[in-house]
Amino acid sequence: MGYILSKEGFDRVLAELGKKYRLYAPVRKVGEGRFTDTDVVRYDFVSSVDEIELDQKSDYAFKEILTPLSETLFFFTENEVKTADRDPREVIVFLKSCDMHAVKRLDQIYLDNKFADPFYKEIRDRVHFVLLGCPRSGADCFCVDMGTNRTTEGFLFSLDRADDGFACKVLDTSLDALFADNSGAQQDVEPKYVTENATRVTIPDEIPNSIYKNPVWDQYSARCIGCGRCNFACPTCTCYTMQDVYYTDNGKVGERRRVGASCMVDGYTNVAGGGQYRRSKGERMRFKVLHKIYDFKKRFGYQMCVGCGRCDMICPEYISFSACINKVNQAVQEEAAAAAAKAAQN
Ligand code: SF4
Ligand code: SF4
Repeated sequence: MGYILSKEGFDRVLAELGKKYRLYAPVRKVGEGRFTDTDVVRYDFVSSVDEIELDQKSDYAFKEILTPLSETLFFFTENEVKTADRDPREVIVFLKSCDMHAVKRLDQIYLDNKFADPFYKEIRDRVHFVLLGCPRSGADCFCVDMGTNRTTEGFLFSLDRADDGFACKVLDTSLDALFADNSGAQQDVEPKYVTENATRVTIPDEIPNSIYKNPVWDQYSARCIGCGRCNFACPTCTCYTMQDVYYTDNGKVGERRRVGASCMVDGYTNVAGGGQYRRSKGERMRFKVLHKIYDFKKRFGYQMCVGCGRCDMICPEYISFSACINKVNQAVQEEAAAAAAKAAQN
């Protein structure tokens, strides 16, 4: 069912939902960007539609609500373990289509990857979604080529601007009465979605092992500073590490935390005995890119990257993930052409 609501009507809907749910949406933080006099858009709790950034994709992903950057899993004493208490309230998260698709990737990793992660599941069971319509592509987005530009299920309702207010398509029928009570008109509504992006990518169907030694990665050893911002802004990066915090000198009382990790930073691949894999930034870039556009798909049947472009937006060295995908494709094509020419000579 579709509804057209005034701003006041939609705020009444939010106020009613706010009695049961915490509402988590992209918010423009004026003057808090990384350069002087720039803004940043990041997720925060809201109570009015005025607070929600509807026109610009968030710089940082929503994922901290599902996978907190630092999360105490349990406390331990000499003889006992107690799972950490969590905020029991349900949450509604406002997401654009690409991020709805990112949730599928997070669920795949944490719930459907041999074992279900109980800590993730406990949070996930309390999280619901609102689809934010997306009428205009961002400059760095390549969601169309990744097939994530449209979402038709998995949300309670959608939210788009309309001429005199807001248009909502309500999928959760239990909310129809709430929308009908606060709506000026009922009509067909389809969430807006982009159909083309300025940024295009071509991902090769098959990537031969020879790509590991291809010089395409070398430039990233020179350019990347290993800060990990690309991983922390990415809605589909899921790596974490464990930290035990001891309250006593004997190490028998404390807490275990799960803390976000990045495959691009020093120390990620440290192993016992002082070893370290992928020392160069180029090797780390290779690992990240092939995981996003090849390895995950080989295992689960669809691409991990959703084409949100956040890694391109946030990199302080202006390293473009989408450009790298196209360089990989070009390298694969060149290798194939060289192999065919050699075969023809023989
Ligand atoms: S790799 Fe980059 S474009 Fe792909 S999902 Fe992550 S942040 Fe978005
Ligand atoms: S954000 Fe850029 S510089 Fe930082 S680790 Fe990622 S690719 Fe390297």
